[in-house]
Amino acid sequence: MIKLEDITFSYRRGVPALIDATAEIGAGINLLLGPNGSGKTTLLKILATTLMPEQGTYQMDGAQMDKRTPSDLSKLFFLSEDEKFPLNTINDMVVHHACFYPTFSIAALRNNLAAYNMSGDEKLSDMSLGQRKKANVAYALALGTDLLMLDEPANGMDIGSKKIFNQLLASNYRDGQIVIIATHTVHDMKNLFDGVIMLNQGHIELCASVERITRRLAFVISSALPPQALYKESDLQGYRAIVINEMAEEETNIDYELLYAALLSPVGEEIVNLIKN
Ligand code: ADP
Repeated sequence: MIKLEDITFSYRRGVPALIDATAEIGAGINLLLGPNGSGKTTLLKILATTLMPEQGTYQMDGAQMDKRTPSDLSKLFFLSEDEKFPLNTINDMVVHHACFYPTFSIAALRNNLAAYNMSGDEKLSDMSLGQRKKANVAYALALGTDLLMLDEPANGMDIGSKKIFNQLLASNYRDGQIVIIATHTVHDMKNLFDGVIMLNQGHIELCASVERITRRLAFVISSALPPQALYKESDLQGYRAIVINEMAEEETNIDYELLYAALLSPVGEEIVNLIKN
C-alpha cells in the first residue's frame, strides 16, 4: 500500500505542479489519468523518488520512501515514456541492472521477449520507437518490483503488439504488486484495471478502486437519454451516460473516456463525492 500525505512539488517557486496530494494506492493495476500538464509525470517521479517533494510524506508498505535506502529502491521501477536504457541491449541490462532487483525473473523476461520475437541481443539504439517500447516493457514487467510505473507504455506499438502488451501485463502481474499506468489510450486496456487515479491541475481529484466506482455509478449506452443522467455524451448510436447505480450489486464496465470527461466537467465534484461517500 502506498500512502501519500499532503505532497506538494514545484519546479519553479510558487508554481506547484503537484498540490497537497493525498491518496492511498492499493495493490492492483491502476490507471493514471489526467490532462496534459496535470502532474502525472511529476507524481510518478515522486513515487520513483527521483523528485523529492518540498512538503508531505510518502510511505510504501510502512517504509518512509524519501530515505532512498537501496532495499527500498530495489522495490520500485519507473519506465518513462521516452525511456532510453543506458546500455546496448536488454541482455546487457540483465547483467548490469537487473542484479539490483531481487524480484527479477529471467524466465519471465525470456517469455516476454519471445512474445515479441526478440532475444534480448538486439541493439536498442537501432530500434524504432515501437520496437524499443516492446523491449522496454518486456524488461520492466520481468523486474517484478512491488511498485511498477509505466508512462504510456504502449504508445508507438502496432495493434498486435498492444494486444500482446495487455496479455503480458496480466500474466506478469503477481499478487500484492502495485502497477500504475499513465495512458491516454485506455480503450484497448479497459478490462485490465483495478483502480483509477485522476489528476487535474496538480490535484488528485480521484483515487478509487474500479469496484467502488462501479458500485456507485453505472455506465450505460442508450438510444434515448437516460432521465437521471449525471453526465452524458451523444454519438451516432445514441447516448453514453453515467447514472447512479441504484442496484449496487449489478456492476457495469467503466467507460473510462466518459468518466474522464465527466470528472473534468462541472459535475466532476458531484461525481467524486458520489464515489467517495
Ligand atoms: P503531465 O505528465 O500530466 O503532462 P507534468 O507532471 O509533466 O504533467 O507537468 C506538470 C506541470 O509541471 C506542468 O505545468 C509542466 O509545465 C510543469 N513542468 C513539468 N516538468 C517541468 C520542468 N522540468 N521544469 C519546469 N516545469 C515543469
